[in-house]
Amino acid sequence: MAGAGPAGICAAVAAARQGAHVALIERYGVVGGNLTAGYVGPILGSVCENTIRDEVCDLLGVRDNDWIGEHGNAHDFEAAKLTLAEFIARERNIEVFLQCCVSDVIREGNEVKGIKCASNEGPLCFEAPVTIDCTGDAIVAFLAGADVEKGRSDGLMQPVTLEYTIDGVDESRGIICIGDVDDVQLDGERFLDWCKKRADEGKLPQLLAAVRLHPSVRPGCRQVNTTQVNGVDITSAASIFAADLELRRQINLLTQFLRENVPGYENCRVIGSGTTTGVRESRRVMGDYVIDADEMAEGCRFPDVVVHKALFIVDIHNPEGAGQAEPSIQYCKPYDLPYRCFLPRGLEGLFVAGRCISGTHRAHASYRVMSICMAMGEAVGIAAALSASMKCTPRALDVRLVQERLEALGIALFD
Ligand SMILES: Cc1cc2nc3c(=O)[nH]c(=O)nc-3n(C[C@H](O)[C@H](O)[C@H](O)COP(=O)(O)OP(=O)(O)OC[C@H]3O[C@@H](n4cnc5c(N)ncnc54)[C@H](O)[C@@H]3O)c2cc1C
Repeated sequence: MAGAGPAGICAAVAAARQGAHVALIERYGVVGGNLTAGYVGPILGSVCENTIRDEVCDLLGVRDNDWIGEHGNAHDFEAAKLTLAEFIARERNIEVFLQCCVSDVIREGNEVKGIKCASNEGPLCFEAPVTIDCTGDAIVAFLAGADVEKGRSDGLMQPVTLEYTIDGVDESRGIICIGDVDDVQLDGERFLDWCKKRADEGKLPQLLAAVRLHPSVRPGCRQVNTTQVNGVDITSAASIFAADLELRRQINLLTQFLRENVPGYENCRVIGSGTTTGVRESRRVMGDYVIDADEMAEGCRFPDVVVHKALFIVDIHNPEGAGQAEPSIQYCKPYDLPYRCFLPRGLEGLFVAGRCISGTHRAHASYRVMSICMAMGEAVGIAAALSASMKCTPRALDVRLVQERLEALGIALFD
């Protein structure tokens, strides 16, 4: 199992609960992925009830299972580092390898037989009947030769962002703005339109005009999701430092803007930021089915559903400028994700889960949020455990068995 982000943690725990022995490999020195190291919150998106998403959110103190989250879905990044580690440690069948970076795959023909990592003890090899790639960037699938796509038809991807936290906000005056779906007002106009005017006046770079001020669990704090650099491909190692440098410079610039222009933010100051550039989009692994946003907008249903009633907007941060890429936001109806989206085309022994599953650029912009990634992880973890115990490949596994296990956990998969 590679990657201990929202998808990977849930996959590991779900597989272990089915009796599988799991090696969970993570390149950072902390579990949680974007949910901790990335400073990403609130936990957005929703799925049907009783998935592992509800359990994780309960542990994190997140109140709602509501796609936009309003103001109830914030979590404490610091607390989450321990909470998620304890969540994993409770499962005796999981062995965690932190500070281990996947460097290669073990492969026989088109069958993935495990992964290799770089560690402080030197190279480590993990052989396994089933491997799950929850690395976000699909590094395992890529190394195994999977068919991958990046970005939209011109190859451009959503911008990278560094999220950060400020304190010192006067709660009686300091607004919260979730993003483009939020109509919050300042000086009698929509806050994001107000920001655009300030950018036109030269008070803020146009690229940073969509000032998203997310709620925090701590009074007087905000989670700022606004910095952005376009044209970065995070799978190109040489481009990461320049992006990180620019994003950290933007943090100072933005904070100065908030202090000087936004009521209630006069005394705000930076108290923390992600330890890593936030990547919305990189590789998408083409699988046995490639889901598209148009069918998600219609609330698609599949006989091989394993994630039911997933819901979020098609949230495409502009790959070429500020704000959203499309003139109007595409809303979705609660949609299903089929088992086939988790099976990389042409490869055996390998699942993908999380933001790198098989879908189009626009579909990815919806299912990439953390609630949905957690539910994916659970479904794939169960499938991987079944596949290993039954000694059949993930592709040969009867999906009804996966559905039965999910339903036995109280997860209704059919309307
Ligand atoms: C700036 C930004 C803002 C966002 N805002 C929100 C939001 O408000 N709400 C929301 O719900 N979602 C939001 N998202 C989306 C969400 O955070 C991600 O899509 C989600 O975390 C994906 O989960 P994941 O488990 O697939 O990947 P990740 O969270 O990226 O976890 C992947 C894990 O794999 C590990 N890994 C990667 N490569 C290797 C390797 N080679 N070896 C070992 N381990 C490896 C990583 O270190 C990481 O821990 C945002 C994303 C960004 C970037």
